[in-house]
Amino acid sequence: MKPCAPMKYEACIGLETHVMQKTQTKMFCGCKHEYGAEPNTNVCPVCLGYPGALPVLNAKAIELCCKAGLLLGCEINPHSKWDRKNYFYPDMSKNYQITQADQPLCLGGQIVTEVNGELKTFTLERIHQEENAAKNTHAANGSLVDYNRAGTALMEIVSNPCMHSADDAFAYIQALKLIMEYGGISDCDMEKGHMRSDVNVSVRPVGQEKLGEKVEIKNMNSPSFIVEAIN
Ligand SMILES: [Zn+2]
Repeated sequence: MKPCAPMKYEACIGLETHVMQKTQTKMFCGCKHEYGAEPNTNVCPVCLGYPGALPVLNAKAIELCCKAGLLLGCEINPHSKWDRKNYFYPDMSKNYQITQADQPLCLGGQIVTEVNGELKTFTLERIHQEENAAKNTHAANGSLVDYNRAGTALMEIVSNPCMHSADDAFAYIQALKLIMEYGGISDCDMEKGHMRSDVNVSVRPVGQEKLGEKVEIKNMNSPSFIVEAIN
């Protein structure tokens, strides 16, 4: 009897990358967007989520998001809207985040880059605009919240699960970082948390179309961590 050929598997990898935009003020209020300021000094009723506070859109953030979309070959959605993502957590004092669910600003798009000498195309699903959460710092005897980051402009760039190795993901994130930097969209300073990725990985038999069960590794702030997480 002939032995069965061993089944071959492939990884399918998608990245959700949060990029903090280079704006002077926050997404929905006039508070300064400034790194390293004294905690809880760049805050107001809007970004602290006081009842009755009215958010006002930051035009520069929309301009930068559309510019990012054009640089990545996205279609700019002529009609876009905002949604509330409800969750209870100390880093979001309103108990909801303003984001875009079904009508994001940018649709589709792609990144073409070289991986080990081979030119590859990685397709995007969408880019949506949202607001950042505050920053929690956990110490042994308690937790601290700094609302200076709450409400700063944040884009989420969502790729399709079109990558198949850590090398693919590394090349993708490096190319994305360069495009964001040279386009003036973001400084992409990883240490300041300007760029963070959630990595979705699933495994399926080669030849199968349906994706396998997905595992999400959240908040990777450097390309080398992304590579380690995938491997
Ligand atoms: Zn504010």
